[in-house]
Amino acid sequence: MSSYAMSPLMGQMMNKPMLISSLIEHADRYFGKNEIVSRRVEGDIHRYNYSECHRRSKKLANAFAELGVKIGDRIATLAWNGYRHLEAYYAVSGSGAVLHTINPRLHPEQIAYIANHAEDQYLLFDMTFLPIVQAIAAHCPGIKGYIMMCDRDKLPADGKIPNLMAYEDLIEANSDDFVWPVFDENSASSLCYTSGTTGNPKGALYSHRSTILHSYASSLPDGLNVSARDSVLPVVPMFHVNAWGLPYSAPLNGAKLVFPGPHLDGKSLYEIFEQEKVTFSAGVPTVWLGLLTYVAQNNLKFSTFKRTVIGGSACPPAMMKTLRHTYGVEVVHAWGMTEMSPLGTAGTLMAKHADLTEDEKQAILQKQGHVLYGVEMKIVDDAGQELPWDGKTYGNLLVKGPWIIHSYYKNEGGDVLEDGWFPTGDVATIDTDGYMQITDRSKDVVKSGGEWIGTIDLENVAVSHPAILQAACIGVFHPKWDERPLLLAVKKPGAEVTREELLQFFDGKVAKWWLPDDVVFVESLPLGATGKILKNKLREQFKEHKLPTA
Ligand code: ADP
Repeated sequence: MSSYAMSPLMGQMMNKPMLISSLIEHADRYFGKNEIVSRRVEGDIHRYNYSECHRRSKKLANAFAELGVKIGDRIATLAWNGYRHLEAYYAVSGSGAVLHTINPRLHPEQIAYIANHAEDQYLLFDMTFLPIVQAIAAHCPGIKGYIMMCDRDKLPADGKIPNLMAYEDLIEANSDDFVWPVFDENSASSLCYTSGTTGNPKGALYSHRSTILHSYASSLPDGLNVSARDSVLPVVPMFHVNAWGLPYSAPLNGAKLVFPGPHLDGKSLYEIFEQEKVTFSAGVPTVWLGLLTYVAQNNLKFSTFKRTVIGGSACPPAMMKTLRHTYGVEVVHAWGMTEMSPLGTAGTLMAKHADLTEDEKQAILQKQGHVLYGVEMKIVDDAGQELPWDGKTYGNLLVKGPWIIHSYYKNEGGDVLEDGWFPTGDVATIDTDGYMQITDRSKDVVKSGGEWIGTIDLENVAVSHPAILQAACIGVFHPKWDERPLLLAVKKPGAEVTREELLQFFDGKVAKWWLPDDVVFVESLPLGATGKILKNKLREQFKEHKLPTA
């Protein structure tokens, strides 16, 4: 694997491979009694600890061995955040097989495509996803069997799914006497497909080494800062880039884990946050909308919730301020992508910022932040020339590091690197202190008369209006300028604002030529499989929209 030179004097440290199984072994041995709590698909709360999780993971590993699963085989899951999914994380990767987490929000046709492309051998699924499995089974001849994550009495009687097993039968029938195999740390451990907003989804294939390094780095104080004092609730699904690594970094640090299952509405989340004394959470901005609305409507406060990571799309400063000032929840704005395991940057302050005003601190914190050690980044122009770090010049953002892909699974898309760097497809600025700010995704930028208008800034202004819940800005055709910004906005329940009032609200907040040319109020915005606003769909829907300025 290594193509680097060997020194005549090599270090004399043990060459122990970094394997995912070591995380659950560590959690069992040193944090064995720390809890894992799950709201199950069955509706009740399940409670156990790291030692029991390890024991059941070994039973599941024995079951896979009996089913003939070998090192490198792909095993798929279609599951919510829950303890059985966590057991599968460890049983599959720990055995040397590859955990392929599939996003159940994708269209069944896309799920079948992904399962066939990955050559999945078995598929584990939560009861909720039985209809998906029924829809895809006939189209996935390579899948040898299906494991429904439940007791036997919940299995459907109609026999439509070939070789259907009950998860709990496999657990019960197998011994917990299992020794995790030792193999090369560069072996594949898990597989995640990008959501495929353009073209077919492509797979990012992680290794044991990349996963452990990412777990270390993401746990750092200026990263997710996960510790044995935390009660961690990942709202971000375990099928979306491994819940940003929390199923690995929580056991690494001995943190309590709380899984919300399918219940992600504001009320259910609030209840479990309070019941399980959640201190730390992580999710995309859209999930916080529901929780914040519920908490505001019912005049509630959080008693233990202190910190959250928000990423996946830009966190509106208004949301960050509400969480910080109204609820005392510190927001770490993070940026990354499936191809980066996912974490690249996180936004926290430095010692020298201590005396800044709240507004000055906010201006730094709303950027996407600093790289974690291990990730390198730069911005370049279209000719590949590096651009200055002045906080103003924007360019294409490139990254490299040991938990960033060098190619997609099965080499889909060919060579993806540019001179050894991975092009993220994002446009960003970097300031003199190294804080990176995403201006836009390059495909979402509005190109007006040859100049770029970043849509994230416009959306952030719109959602800071008290009557606006959500906003998306897209470019639509303009005969003179090629493209001009159109703002689509969702009003808060019961709130009123006119098109003119909203446009006026932008005055002085952005450059005049950035002002949206029009506003359309909509009932809702289309969300993709990972909870992000689908701008390509909006562009399609509003492609004929006639701007008043045109
Ligand atoms: P996909 O690319 O398949 O939609 P990812 O979750 O990998 O799924 O998305 C990565 C992209 O999400 C990034 O390239 C970036 O455009 C966007 N993104 C992630 N975090 C942020 C953030 N904090 N601010 C703005 N954009 C973000």
